[in-house]
Amino acid sequence: MKFCILASGSKGNSLFIESAYGRFLIDVGLSARQIEERLQSVGVEAAGIDAIILTHAHSDHVRGVGVLAYRHRIPVMAHPDTLDSITPLLKPGQAVLPWQQPFQVKDLAFTPFPLSHDCQPTFGFVIRENSRALVLCTDLGVVTESVREQVRQADMLILESNHDPDMLMNGPYPWELKERIAGRAGHLSNHNAGELLQEVLHPRLQRVILGHLSEENNTPNLALVTVLDYLGSSRQEMVEVIEQKTVSAMYML
Ligand SMILES: [Zn+2]
Ligand SMILES: [Zn+2]
Repeated sequence: MKFCILASGSKGNSLFIESAYGRFLIDVGLSARQIEERLQSVGVEAAGIDAIILTHAHSDHVRGVGVLAYRHRIPVMAHPDTLDSITPLLKPGQAVLPWQQPFQVKDLAFTPFPLSHDCQPTFGFVIRENSRALVLCTDLGVVTESVREQVRQADMLILESNHDPDMLMNGPYPWELKERIAGRAGHLSNHNAGELLQEVLHPRLQRVILGHLSEENNTPNLALVTVLDYLGSSRQEMVEVIEQKTVSAMYML
């Protein structure tokens, strides 16, 4: 498969994946027009997308889903409770496909795993083509044993590294919001990401892409340096950071 991150961060998220037989979006957290433009920048027409799959119903993941899916007649696949939450974004009669278990679309196998986050339900995904696995793990406040188990399967990993705890606590957000972000149902800090990587590092893991960075409470360099503190600087080549405003490289897996 190949994939690129169209957007990642507190202001919008979307992941494009292409397998031998299909094209997919996970989350549509920008406007439909912005997603179309970002797809075009990597040579993909939105009309060619076979399915949109959602992780959860927060607006930074679903903002453009209704318009994009309607305009290009793309089915929306999500947990039934997520579909309920996004009903106001959809037009009557739009194709929705609920799942509750691992599911297959074309030649990709999607295994959702639950994340601790202040939107019920929220999922990460293990996405497999043949023997290779991409793992998407963002929007979680705490790392559980089940999260570790799924992340260990990754050949490539997109992992949340949302904030630096000091920047968050000394920053401009109101106290309640600071508590929410740092809490068990919030977002992973750079330290949380580094700890998790240290625990699950294995020889098959080729690449780690740090994402869902806060623009207010983090910097790409701080995320990278903090995570490498846990992994050792010899791992520098396998770790990258994705920024909100730019489309990532196209990764081959
Ligand atoms: Zn998010
Ligand atoms: Zn969220």
